[in-house]
Amino acid sequence: MTLRQQYLDAMGIQQWIPRYATQTETEITEEVSPVEYPVADVIDTTQMILPEPSEHAEPMPDVSPEPFMETPPDNSIIATASPERIQRIAVLDWDALQSEVKDCTECELHQGRTQTVFGVGDPAAKLMIVGEGPGAEEDRQGEPFVGRAGKLLDAMLHAVGFEREQVYIGNVVKCRPPNNRNPEAVEMATCGAYLSRQIEIIQPSLMLAVGKIPATYLLQQDASIGSLRGKKHMYQPTNTPVVVTYHPAYLLRRPEEKSKSWQDLQFTMKLLETF
Ligand code: SF4
Repeated sequence: MTLRQQYLDAMGIQQWIPRYATQTETEITEEVSPVEYPVADVIDTTQMILPEPSEHAEPMPDVSPEPFMETPPDNSIIATASPERIQRIAVLDWDALQSEVKDCTECELHQGRTQTVFGVGDPAAKLMIVGEGPGAEEDRQGEPFVGRAGKLLDAMLHAVGFEREQVYIGNVVKCRPPNNRNPEAVEMATCGAYLSRQIEIIQPSLMLAVGKIPATYLLQQDASIGSLRGKKHMYQPTNTPVVVTYHPAYLLRRPEEKSKSWQDLQFTMKLLETF
């Protein structure tokens, strides 16, 4: 079994191998690196059999990049940081930003952290993954999306031709909320100023918001993941497209939803191809 197939299996996605395929077992199982493996092949839907939606499942999103449905901004949902602080952070370069976050005590979340979790990956990445905040393992290791949820995210990215080092992975808040509670609005606003600066510096072509908290922050609207999936939204400050999908931790609890996250990844890749 190829590594790619193992990852797709881990996501609960079945691969279809045509009966007329003439490859030998050696050819079929030959390892193909993501660099050699064109993205177009990886997301070729003719190679996939997605589970049939159940009677109560949400409709399948159209994975074609058109038509786009853009989200109207609603700036009333989330509190904002003070203008003075935003202006100060807005001129920090990457190293200065990293250094400021490392010692930050701007909100209550600093009290329970082991360390801040700034982010990981390529600061010039085309694709930026935005999550909620560090959990226990992330707090220990100082890196976002480690542990089981992180492994699933890695598998999802690998399945569409990306390694962790080729994207940038960050969170709305950089310190672990106690008892894994959701960050409060004021914490999101305070720490979100750092995320906003990260986005300005990275200038990703597209952001993938994994979970409701990053979707709420980036889109400034409180809506369910189900209602936000399958559409191109916009992060207004930098006019950056945003796709919304489920958090990997949710997928571990609800593996039957993995096929939807696969659809979201296909949609993401289709959009990325247009840049
Ligand atoms: Fe600072 Fe963000 Fe940590 Fe709050 S969560 S203390 S704003 S780094």
